[in-house]
This record gives sequence, C-alpha cells and structure tokens, in this order.
Amino acid sequence: MKKAIVIGSGIGGLSSAVRLSNKGYDVHVFEKNSYPGGKLTEINLNEFRFDAGPSLFTMPQLVDELFELSGKNSKEYFDYERLNNLCNYFFEDGTIIHASANGDEFAKEIEIKTSDSAKTVKKHLKKSAFIYNATSTLFLTKSLHKIDSYLSWNTFVSILKLPFLNIFKTMNGANKARFKDDKNIQIFNRYATYNGSNPYQAPGILNIIPHLEYNMGAYFPKNGMHSITMSIYQLAIDLGVNFHFNSEIKKITTKDNKVTGILTSKGVNHQADLVVCNTDIHYVYKNLLNSPKLLTKVDKQERSSSALIFYWGINKDFPELDLHNILFSENYKEEFDHIFNKKLIYEDPTIYINITSKFNKNDAPNGKENWFVMINVPSNDNQDWYKLINDARENIISKINRVLKVDLNKLIECEEILDPISIQTKTLSYKGSLYGTASNKRSAAFFRHKNFSSVYNNLFFVGGSVHPGGGIPLALSSAKIIDRLIENEK
Ligand SMILES: Cc1cc2nc3c(=O)[nH]c(=O)nc-3n(C[C@H](O)[C@H](O)[C@H](O)COP(=O)(O)OP(=O)(O)OC[C@H]3O[C@@H](n4cnc5c(N)ncnc54)[C@H](O)[C@@H]3O)c2cc1C
Repeated sequence: MKKAIVIGSGIGGLSSAVRLSNKGYDVHVFEKNSYPGGKLTEINLNEFRFDAGPSLFTMPQLVDELFELSGKNSKEYFDYERLNNLCNYFFEDGTIIHASANGDEFAKEIEIKTSDSAKTVKKHLKKSAFIYNATSTLFLTKSLHKIDSYLSWNTFVSILKLPFLNIFKTMNGANKARFKDDKNIQIFNRYATYNGSNPYQAPGILNIIPHLEYNMGAYFPKNGMHSITMSIYQLAIDLGVNFHFNSEIKKITTKDNKVTGILTSKGVNHQADLVVCNTDIHYVYKNLLNSPKLLTKVDKQERSSSALIFYWGINKDFPELDLHNILFSENYKEEFDHIFNKKLIYEDPTIYINITSKFNKNDAPNGKENWFVMINVPSNDNQDWYKLINDARENIISKINRVLKVDLNKLIECEEILDPISIQTKTLSYKGSLYGTASNKRSAAFFRHKNFSSVYNNLFFVGGSVHPGGGIPLALSSAKIIDRLIENEK
C-alpha cells in the first residue's frame, strides 16, 4: 500500500485525507495543533460555545459528497438546515432590511424599504446566476494550470461569455450601474468580503457570490459550524486515516524531482510516496521547501483581509437579531480604504454579529446569547494591534449601543478575542489573512497558486491559499481538484 502524508488538518487537509483514503492510500495527517480543523474550530467560554472562524455555510453538497464517496450515509455523520432568513441589515438611519432567502420576498422587501424596484433585485440575482453558470465548471472544478482544462466545450463557452461577466468593471461599478439606492449598493458590495477583497477594486465578476446564498442557499449545520470539521474528521478516522496531533512539520524532504517525506519539529523523519500540503503556500516556500525564488512570486501577491473578533457571552435575548446580522458603516468606501490601503481600522466599521444560539439552544444559557462580533481588518503588517484593538472595541460597542439602543458594557459577561496575529499563530496563515490572496485584481484567479508543484511531481497543495481560493466550499473544491490529479493506488 502506498503512503500519503497530509500536512495540516484544515478543511482542505481533512477532505484530502478522506479522498486519498478512498483511493487506497495509507494516509497520515500531521497537524501542529492538538485539534483538527484549523480555522474551522470552536471556543468554549464559561457556559457559552462559539464557532471560532467561519460562520456562513454554503454548498453543503461538497461535504455530503465526501460521505457518499466513502459509501457512508452522510446524515449519520452530518446534518444541516436551510436558512429562511439570510441576514438582518441595520443602517444608522434606523432602516432594517430582512434579507429573506426567498428571492421574491427579498425583492419585495427592497422595494418597500429602498428606492429600487423588486424587478431590479431579481435582475441582479439572475445576472449572479448567469456568472456562476458561465464560470463554475472552469474555476471551481478544474486546475487552471493544466492545458486539458481548457480543451472542453464548457470551457470554450465560458471564455466566449467573459465579456458579459463584468470583469472590466469593479464590483462597486457594476452595482452602482444596477442600483439607485446606496443601501442596495452597500448590501451587494459586501459580498466582496466573502473572499477578503475590496469591492472598490475587485472585478464585478465577484457578483457571482450572491448566487450562492440567494439561489443555492445558505445553511446552518446542526451542532454548529464546528460539526463540519468534526464529522469529516470522524469519517477520516472510520476510513482508517492516522492522525498525528501536536506534530509540526519543519521540512519537506526531496530527492531530484520528487518529495520523499517530511521532517517533524521533534526531528523525526517520515517517508511517503506522496505529500499533500494544507499549509499556507507562503509558509511552504519560506519554511518547508526553502525556495526563495518561488517565495518571491507568492510574496508579491496582495493578501486578503483578516478579522478582529470579539466572542462575547451576552446576558440578554435580542429578538430583533437573527443568526447573521450586519450593522453597516456610514462610509463603506472609507472603511475599505482603511483596510486595504492605509492598513488600519476605520473608526466606523461594519459590524457582523453571528449568534448561533438562535439555532443551537445549547450554545448559551436560557435568556442569554453567544455573540461572535467581527469586523474586517487589514492583514498583519506589524501594526500597533494593541491600540487598534482597544480603539476598535470602543467604536464597536458605541455603534451597537447606538443602533440597537442598549448599554452593551453591562451585558458582556465574558470575552475572548481573535486578531490577525492570533489567526497567524494558530493556523500559520501568512499575515493572518482569512482567504489567502485577495481577489482585487482582474487576473487574481489565474495567479492564485496551482494545486500541484511544478518542481516535485508527487507534491500537491490544497486549502484557502491556493486555487480556487479561500472559504469552506473552495477549500473543499481544492481537495476535489487534486483528487482528479492524483493517480488511484488501489
Ligand atoms: C474568522 C474567520 C471567519 C471566516 N468566515 C468564513 C465563512 O463565514 N465562510 C467560509 O466559507 N469561510 C470563512 N472563513 C475562511 C475559512 O475558514 C477558510 O478558508 C478555510 O477554513 C481554510 O481551510 P484550509 O484547508 O485552508 O486550512 P486552515 O484552516 O488554514 O488550516 C490549516 C491547518 O494546517 C496546520 N498547519 C499549518 N502548517 C503546519 C505545519 N507546518 N505542520 C503541521 N500543521 C500545520 C494548521 O495548524 C491548521 O490546522 C473564515 C475564516 C476565519 C479565520
């Protein structure tokens, strides 16, 4: 039996382990932390449980597929429900927009609360579906770096449609051309943050993202986002995958044009026929392979944004809040200018509040809520984070007090904080960015690192820092792409 080593147990690493095991490999996963999941983990604080990283779940079929591939009943491991309400949007002028998952209801709500028509919203969602249908086969399911990916009828059709996909406008430009009302432009510009980008720079093709929520659906996993990690981990165990926790890899060993194995921080060498790397690609070239030339190429790419999160146990129920809530900044352009150009945090940031106890009653005691309060922030460039975090905390609390008319300081029972430095330390994600490289340039998709090495023919890359990009569905897709690239060993 051939042996495969996976470095890292993020969602990309776990799903690769399952796929390799199904191909007949003896799979060993080496993880520096004492737990699986990387960014997709959880925090327990007093009587509260929080999903620590991702909070929005789309394309659950990519998780189900792993169980089906393994001949298991996915429902025995993992279950989820479709959301009826995608998000509650709060504006400083008192407007609240409920984004129903039903496109007709959402369009009606927009017509009632803003100066745009329901017809305009539907047109926008139709365009979003058009972009998805034109591009998903090429960008999400194939390596962009293999010539045969381009030799299919679907790809030919995708390329013909490129001029109609808003690649020559910015996302903000495309949304301004569509909507009259600034509130709607802001709602749809926000989707650039789903891959850590800036809507005032990123191409309008990113208007593909609303399609995932409005047309394909947003979901909540029973037992929370962390159950995505735990169910795939359990599947891997059941398939016989071997996990080595507290095992940091220091080096990938090589001979000629092949990798031979890995070296752990304890100085132990493990041989393998194939290595899959789920670590940030920047870390791979800087530390694991020591390739200054390849590192320079990766180094030149702009990193996606990072996040500052306050996990707060809140001593009150807020009926006006749902699972996903946004309190919008009054100056969105300035906010993104701070994140991507000034590399600072704007004084009036857009605040995202995620409350899983709305669905999962066990996540907070009766009459209380578990608030995951996040703002988008720049990736780590050695800013004065102590000051930035303290100022942001004050600004966030006073904005929540203003918009929800509360005195939040009296309601916070307990607190934990995650910032770009701790994200970097916990997952070795370069500069603490959430989604690898940003998609601010038109060509970003083509320059994101490929899923295989051009130097070593048995080395593959998965996860948010390589093609097709960051976010759970894309990290799962990267594992699916390498599945196709790797030979069966049964
Ligand atoms: C705060 C936050 C909010 C987010 N929100 C969303 C969201 O709502 N929806 C969404 O889809 N996505 C979201 N994301 C992004 C999503 O979490 C990531 O894109 C995805 O989880 C990345 O998975 P990955 O496979 O790249 O691995 P990672 O999660 O980056 O894990 C990599 C793993 O490799 C391990 N590792 C690294 N180097 C080594 C080494 N040398 N030796 C051993 N082990 C090593 C790390 O410890 C880690 O466990 C969010 C991320 C964060 C942090």
